Amino acid sequence: MSKLVLLGTSAGKASDHRASSSYLLDLGDHGILMDVGDGATRHFLANGYAPEWVTDIIITHTHADHVCGLPYFIQQRYLSGTDTPLTIWCPQESLDRLRGSMAFGYLFPERMPYDTHYHDIKTTEPWSVHGIEFRARLTTHLKEAARAGQERGYGNLGQCYAISAKVGKTAFLYSADVGSIDDVMGIPEPIDWLLIESTHIALDRLWPWADERGIKKIIITHIADDFDTSGVAQAEKYTSAEVVLAEDNMSFDFP
Ligand SMILES: [Zn+2]
Ligand SMILES: [Zn+2]
Repeated sequence: MSKLVLLGTSAGKASDHRASSSYLLDLGDHGILMDVGDGATRHFLANGYAPEWVTDIIITHTHADHVCGLPYFIQQRYLSGTDTPLTIWCPQESLDRLRGSMAFGYLFPERMPYDTHYHDIKTTEPWSVHGIEFRARLTTHLKEAARAGQERGYGNLGQCYAISAKVGKTAFLYSADVGSIDDVMGIPEPIDWLLIESTHIALDRLWPWADERGIKKIIITHIADDFDTSGVAQAEKYTSAEVVLAEDNMSFDFP
């Protein structure tokens, strides 16, 4: 049975009781990580998983709360001695930076007991990971970073992706970080389960739209410690979807 495991559910500001963004697709014989924030590895181990069992890591964007745990996770994979290859899917703008961060941690590719493949995420077509079809949609989360990147000579920045996947019969969407809820509303793929960040969206617009789209389960994540949970607590008044306020280490079996 496949499941979704929430390894880290905090927003960008560090929390004293949540790890930062990381979500695991447990597909039985292997796992796919989506983002690897601070504290993700500890929760990954606490759920009984072994680092070498993860074959693919998808990085939606390189804000530290989504990526700072990546070198540490890879260090654990190195220490396991596995020869199972690892593929990292990431925004094109971050390919060189992520490779560089491995060298920064002395995790040189020729020293690793396994091959690492890096692929940039493309929005033009779906891509397949061990039979699961993924699709990426650009969000406006990094609009300001893109502008600053141009003005200050840091290059062409701004790539942050919402990721959808069909897991068994379930159409799953992980919003990652968005500019506004309009980013998610514009995504044409079917959605049964929506894992959506809470920092940059309006819940009162989410509920009616989710019903229109026939969304069955909504998991609200990327939770700041001062997040007002009353809107989520009252969700059943406004939507027929099952609404869950994310906590670290929750898991959900895909039907
Ligand atoms: Zn974030
Ligand atoms: Zn972000």
